[in-house]
Amino acid sequence: MPDAAALQPVLTVSGLHKRYHLGASLFSRRRASVKALEGVDLEIYPGEVLGLVGESGCGKSTLAKCILSIERPSGGEIRFDGIDIASLTGVGLKAMRREMQIVFQDPYGSLAPRMRIGALLREPLDIHAIGEPSDRNRMVGQMLEQVGLRPEHGSRYPHELSGGQRQRVAIARALMVRPKLVIADEPVSALDVSVRAQIINLMMRLRSEFDLSYLFVSHDLGVIRYVSDRVIVMYLGRVVEVAPRDPLYEVPHHPYTISLMTAIPSARVGDKSKLAAVTGEIPSNVNPP
Ligand code: ADP
Ligand code: MG
Repeated sequence: MPDAAALQPVLTVSGLHKRYHLGASLFSRRRASVKALEGVDLEIYPGEVLGLVGESGCGKSTLAKCILSIERPSGGEIRFDGIDIASLTGVGLKAMRREMQIVFQDPYGSLAPRMRIGALLREPLDIHAIGEPSDRNRMVGQMLEQVGLRPEHGSRYPHELSGGQRQRVAIARALMVRPKLVIADEPVSALDVSVRAQIINLMMRLRSEFDLSYLFVSHDLGVIRYVSDRVIVMYLGRVVEVAPRDPLYEVPHHPYTISLMTAIPSARVGDKSKLAAVTGEIPSNVNPP
């Protein structure tokens, strides 16, 4: 990992809040709301993999959507390359969208089913006018190779591929526009265990080939340990711990991090301390404890 202190972050999130309003209930006129994010701060440095871990419902996807301007934050600021993304419109917004790409958990849902793989990969080049039109099919072929697919996959449809191959296509589509930052929201959680390591290794190789930074979101501490330079732990919409990977796994500080690790023994191989496992249901953000 590059010397983080010497670099400007690619992404800075400060004091981010997101509240979802729910409909008024039959019995109460007060509208309930979910505080999905409550003052989240983070930075991602060039070339860094920031792992984001926390249980289901803690706000990981909401954070990813706010960063990508899919959701509008209720408060706080997101800066990409030093620019407040809320201030962007038109051409500036389109340029910023190109720099940040997402890979979702479910590649089947994120790839248009009636488009051939070659067309799916060419589309971002056409949208952003990247390369000469006559050269774009060659660029697609090259990308297929870089993500471990064969040229003939270009003429197939998403349903003709395996889950792992579809995720390779989703990654390829994200990389066609040469982004700086890739936000991967549970990118291997829907895949068979046997395929997970292949996709993770591919993403790590592409990180150096394409000079990428990743925000790598997962509920799986084992996956996060494998990929991350630094890790942030979220609990009910808040960041409870941020640390470089090894110190975090060796000496977690926050009680929630400790209980997460105890719940998933594989996350801390060789750990012999007796720690209380997380028991019961995770509390709701509507009525936080
Ligand atoms: P994670 O990705 O960590 O599982 P999410 O960001 O999807 O968590 O959700 C965080 C919280 O916000 C959850 O309580 C979830 O139910 C709620 N939430 C997410 N999206 C919406 C929405 N569109 N409307 C209302 N509540 C939402
Ligand atoms: Mg999620």
